[in-house]
Amino acid sequence: MSTRGLSLLSGGLDSMLAICLLRDQGVAMEGVVFVSPFFGAQGARKAAAQLGVPLREVDFTDDILALVRHPPHGFGGALNPCIDCHAAMIRRAGELMRAGGYDFVSTGEVLNQRPMSQNRRSLETVAQTSGLPGRLLRPLSAQLLEPTEPELDGRVDRARLGAIQGRQRTEQLALAKRFGLTEFPSPAGGCLLTEKGYCRKLRDLLDHTEGIPPAEDVALLRFSRHFRLPGGGRIIVGRNRADNQALKALARQGRALLHTVNVPGPTAAILGPIGEEDLLRAAQIVAAYGDRGALAQVVVRHVTPGGAREFAVDPLPREAFAPWML
Ligand code: SF4
Repeated sequence: MSTRGLSLLSGGLDSMLAICLLRDQGVAMEGVVFVSPFFGAQGARKAAAQLGVPLREVDFTDDILALVRHPPHGFGGALNPCIDCHAAMIRRAGELMRAGGYDFVSTGEVLNQRPMSQNRRSLETVAQTSGLPGRLLRPLSAQLLEPTEPELDGRVDRARLGAIQGRQRTEQLALAKRFGLTEFPSPAGGCLLTEKGYCRKLRDLLDHTEGIPPAEDVALLRFSRHFRLPGGGRIIVGRNRADNQALKALARQGRALLHTVNVPGPTAAILGPIGEEDLLRAAQIVAAYGDRGALAQVVVRHVTPGGAREFAVDPLPREAFAPWML
């Protein structure tokens, strides 16, 4: 029986190289990617296709939402609970490892590549927190770390693993060339929890939600124009035709909508309860984004599961509602 490994595959170069290094010594490798409203499987699918390895896609939504609410090891630069996120992914991969009879779990982590989440202490914390210390292999930095079980018993040849550390990418680029990898995304990006603009909206949602926010509310954060109104109401205003169509579809979930009647304009979704004053403000914002020409007033329709009503409003000047934008 050949040695079998399950490797976290984000689609980034390091995660691809982790697989290449192990496969190069005859280990049968498969990839696993975790999917949530904050990160998807697109990059991993491309990488798996390029590498020719099977890929498992695992829904990680509940895990990451719980960690965004309560990250035991805190956040990185935005709302990214990287240490706990990594540990939870590795814990889940460990469950798959045991169920599927794999020998170990591997990752593309590189010692000291990120000052907070990939220093020696953090890597150790992740290994311990994930409950998988002896069977968690970091092939790119393995020679600088404690040997794992498969290295100790010879299933994996430690001498053929890497001793990479730091932020320089020189060694990774040389390995990419050696393994014939031609396409890989840049090292940064891919996780919305690291994007400050996105995290402002997520912070607002967390501040106005008890406990863990529902996944469907989190999914709406991908729309760009979010407003928290002075009375506490929250709306999303469509930026383009695709947004407007997607927001209209929310009516099927029982969400109230606003849209212009007498001029072309955006659709807005109202999230949660809204008072009369905020409703008027919301209508005035929708009117402000309408293509009203010389018209002084815009008719806005308010559609709820219980019926619809229309009212004529004066558009608000942009500078008046800019501070409410998240
Ligand atoms: S960047 Fe995002 S996906 Fe990656 S470990 Fe951090 S929170 Fe998790």
